[in-house]
Amino acid sequence: MSLHRIAVIGGDGIGPEVVEAGVEVLETLAAAEFGLAFEFKRFDWGSDYYRRNGRMMPQDGLARLENFDAIYFGAVGDPELPDDITLWGLRLAICQGFDQYANVRPTRLLPGLTGPLRPDLGQQIDWVIVRENSEGEYAGVGGRAHRGLPIEVGMDVAVFTRAGIERIARFACDLALSRPRKLLTVVTKSNAQRHGMVLWDEVVREVVRGYRGLTVDWMLVDAMTQRMVNRPGSIDTVLATNLHADILSDLASALGGSLGIGSTANIEPSRNRPSMFEPIHGSAFDITGKGIANPLGSFWTASLMLDHLGEHAAARRLMVAIETVTGRGEHLSPDLGGMAPTAEVTAAVIAALSGLN
Ligand code: ATP
Ligand code: MG
Repeated sequence: MSLHRIAVIGGDGIGPEVVEAGVEVLETLAAAEFGLAFEFKRFDWGSDYYRRNGRMMPQDGLARLENFDAIYFGAVGDPELPDDITLWGLRLAICQGFDQYANVRPTRLLPGLTGPLRPDLGQQIDWVIVRENSEGEYAGVGGRAHRGLPIEVGMDVAVFTRAGIERIARFACDLALSRPRKLLTVVTKSNAQRHGMVLWDEVVREVVRGYRGLTVDWMLVDAMTQRMVNRPGSIDTVLATNLHADILSDLASALGGSLGIGSTANIEPSRNRPSMFEPIHGSAFDITGKGIANPLGSFWTASLMLDHLGEHAAARRLMVAIETVTGRGEHLSPDLGGMAPTAEVTAAVIAALSGLN
């Protein structure tokens, strides 16, 4: 019997709605899969917590999360509060605090769904984007000076370290090798960014040399956006820096159908501390409380979490149930062109899971 202890942080907006739907689905899975069990603990951290306590999470928040096997996260962000408080106070505090340096985002056009690409091209999308999640352009290093004066300066320094590049390159190579095509596309911009990106190229080149059986190609980030649109089938696993992958991921999620279905894993590969799993969408206050948020992104997220926990059969079974529902097209939420509320989509996935017994 493997019992997985999961910290559940719904966060803001539709986050708690889709995460609770996900917990329901995971409980159904546990009841159906022999030997699978979860213990969920909820944390009511986020913007409302901030309004009551002046912090997004308690001071000892990381210590409280430390011993969980994984963190199942909803969304963070509030129209009335700056990102500096919300995002940095919760999501990034956890990512950085637990050194979750690999951000992994799969993209696939699920059966029955249509993206903006021509259907024959759209169906070729089967990617995993690996984003360096700890340094690079989002290292937070820099400063402001001469505020309000004509000579005012704002600087962000992109920080690349040999150790940081090496570890994310290894992670991406291992992941690419575990996939059938064994194909890694490394994204760079070393023609224009002549220091950090050059080190990136050098170190990634050294690392990939150590991997047999892996096909590696290199793309400038600008050209990569065109390739994703024009030749999606030529791409499998992608490795890019924090900023580049952030942008490519949004393009990927648009090509993959809807913001409501994408999911992300923030992985701490040594497994000394918990990794965190979240749908890619934000808090979506325009639909909060209406019961119409698409929970499929949160379910796909749960499947990524199961994979990370070593529950590969359960992860696959959940993905098959999601694809059964999208493929039939009878219970789709409004963002996918249907009329089904969150609860109906959830019930359909649960029914599909039971049908897969
Ligand atoms: P954030 O800054 O938190 O990322 P955002 O406004 O950039 O917020 P989202 O909150 O993800 O992005 O919302 C963008 C749009 O997509 C909104 O119109 C929202 O209603 C829609 N959307 C996002 N997630 C879902 C979902 N799960 N189901 C249905 N619609 C969604
Ligand atoms: Mg956003």
